[in-house]
Amino acid sequence: MYELGYVDYIISGPGDNTFPKLLDVLEGNSDKNLMLIRNLIFKNEDGKIIQTVKEALLDQDSLPQYPYTYFNTFYPLENYLAKTFMGKKTFAYHSSMGCPFTCSFCAVVPIYNAKWKAKAAPTIYKDLKYFKEKYNIDAVEFHDNNFFTSKKRVMEFSKLVIDDNIEWWGEGRIDTINKYSDEELHYMRKAGCRMIFLGAETGNDEVLKQMNKGGTQSGEMIKSFVKRMKAVDIIPRTFVRTRITW
Ligand code: SF4
Repeated sequence: MYELGYVDYIISGPGDNTFPKLLDVLEGNSDKNLMLIRNLIFKNEDGKIIQTVKEALLDQDSLPQYPYTYFNTFYPLENYLAKTFMGKKTFAYHSSMGCPFTCSFCAVVPIYNAKWKAKAAPTIYKDLKYFKEKYNIDAVEFHDNNFFTSKKRVMEFSKLVIDDNIEWWGEGRIDTINKYSDEELHYMRKAGCRMIFLGAETGNDEVLKQMNKGGTQSGEMIKSFVKRMKAVDIIPRTFVRTRITW
């Protein structure tokens, strides 16, 4: 293998704890053995690649709020608030890490090993409120791998955001959201939920089984769920995976 030698260290996983600990060692402020810093990949003195123990996903609410004011001194945050079909100023946000499922085709699985940790609804709302008051955002894209995992959290968030005139979308599973009642879906729409990205994958039950998606999704469920979405006026944006044979 040809090595360019441009990379000395890789942080494999959340860097919240790993990065400052690594900097302390590199700057000589700590004599901690690199082997004891979790989520790290590096070459030891013998040229052997070492991968340290993985750290469990962190409690998202215990993390400090991003220093948005500090970012703003380097590059105006306003420039990141894009115009989309939902609004004139769209904020991109990650409210959770990972996903509790293990679909055989998904890149999220080997990274998070079926773990999911989320910010509580008030924590999300606090960040959104900051951007609403400071930049007058009118839309949010939740880029979580699985935003709708906890119905309780989604409903609590909907209740908090309902009067703020913010449209939003997130990604979720059909069989998870199909458990939400019509009243709950209506309420989410009222609270600004405009669209949900959904992994339909295929309408063929046999192929679905081979994809090892877990849960209870079926071709029939996909069809009836899409009708439910239409009734509550939430766009069901579905991904379908097809194999092209030349
Ligand atoms: S539910 Fe979605 S994010 Fe989770 S493992 Fe399956 S495809 Fe990946």
